[in-house]
Parts: sequence; C-alpha cells; structure tokens
Amino acid sequence: MQRYSAYSDIQVRGSILQTFSSGLGSSWRLINRFMLAEDLGTMGPHGLIEFDPMGWYPLPGHLRVLDRIRKDFGDVAVRQLAATIPRFVASLSSSRDIRSLFRDVDKAFHLSHGKNGEPMYCEQTGRMTEGIGHYGVETPADQKQILCEGTAPYPCVFDEGLLLSLAQIHEPTATLAHLTPEICRALGSPGCTYSVTWS
Ligand SMILES: [Zn+2]
Repeated sequence: MQRYSAYSDIQVRGSILQTFSSGLGSSWRLINRFMLAEDLGTMGPHGLIEFDPMGWYPLPGHLRVLDRIRKDFGDVAVRQLAATIPRFVASLSSSRDIRSLFRDVDKAFHLSHGKNGEPMYCEQTGRMTEGIGHYGVETPADQKQILCEGTAPYPCVFDEGLLLSLAQIHEPTATLAHLTPEICRALGSPGCTYSVTWS
C-alpha cells in the first residue's frame, strides 16, 4: 500500500472527515476502525468516531483509509463517500450555478487542506499554497459542458463521485465522463480529465 510520504506535512479539515463518518452506511463500524488505526479522530461516547470540525488531521492517513475502503468495498464505496461531501461544504452548495461552483472547487479544496496547520488557501489575499495538485476547470459559456482536470492525490473514483455530486447540485441531469481513460491517476498518470455535461 502506498505510504503517501510526499504529503507528510499536509492535513485535512476535521469537517471533511466528519462528512465521511456520516456517509458510511452499514460499513461504518469497520471504516471507523480503519480511521482510528490511522490516528484520525477519537472514539465518541456512542461508538461513533468524532472529529474536531476545525481541527487538522494527517492527509496520508486519510488517503490510506480511502485505499483500504477501495480495496475492501470497491470503487462504488469510494464514489459514494465522495458524493456526500458537497452536502456539507456550505461555500459550494451556496454557489449561484454550476459554472461558478466549478470555478470555486479548487479554492474550497485548498481551504479544506492545510500545510503545517495553515489553510492552503487564504480568502483575504487569494493566495494558494502548492502541494496537493489542483482542480483545473474550463467552463465554455456557450456549451452545457465543463472540463475538469484533477491532479489531487485523491483516487480517480473519489473525484468522479465528488465532481458528479457537485454538478448535480445545480444540474440534476448532469453526467460525468472520464476523457482519455488511458491517462488516469489509477494507472500512474499525474492527472485525470473529466467532462461534465447536462441537458
Ligand atoms: Zn482517472
């Protein structure tokens, strides 16, 4: 299993991990155990893992938990987990339309990750800290299509679930296709390109 040592100084917000424990369904008990084994969260009084929503938790452990979920429960479980995130990220669900939402994804992504305990995006200055890749977005105004290139360390299937779920906030008919599937992070490529379309 990959160790993700390149991300040893990167953290993820507790609020993001909290959404995971809400989206786990019937396998939550086992996945809680994976998370605790990676020092993510603490055991709460009802046997459910708890996170400090504003706290920072190590990204490598989070990525290893996702790998474990993928191995034990399949791609569909990782997609489902990622799809629960938009419901809990207020800045994204309050966006005006699908294009403005996608233009904000990379900022929200950097805001929910930290380097040495500092958010990787500063809303006041607009400064972004490098180190976790990007969600690069093209939003042609005359087409019902968005192209998104994902170079984050998350699994490709995670981004597929996340981006489709984000698209469907404003466009319930949205579908997502992985362009040039042979160029994919799951096959060792640095990024994946997705096309989101709607009617
Ligand atoms: Zn891919």
